[in-house]
Amino acid sequence: MLVKTILLFLLGMVLIAMIGRALFPNAARRLVQRRSVALKPGTCPRCGSYIIGTGPCACGASRREP
Ligand SMILES: [Zn+2]
Repeated sequence: MLVKTILLFLLGMVLIAMIGRALFPNAARRLVQRRSVALKPGTCPRCGSYIIGTGPCACGASRREP
């Protein structure tokens, strides 16, 4: 009985994962891309100088600006 419950639980998890992949096929890739972007050395979008730390650039442009 306990083994049956565990098997059913695992099957449910696999089903949820498959449904999630079918609905959002790019979710995992997006996460990886975001991480790689976060790991890049920050450069200012306006003046191009490297930004050290988490604050905005000295020229006043915010880091999130495209
Ligand atoms: Zn700047």
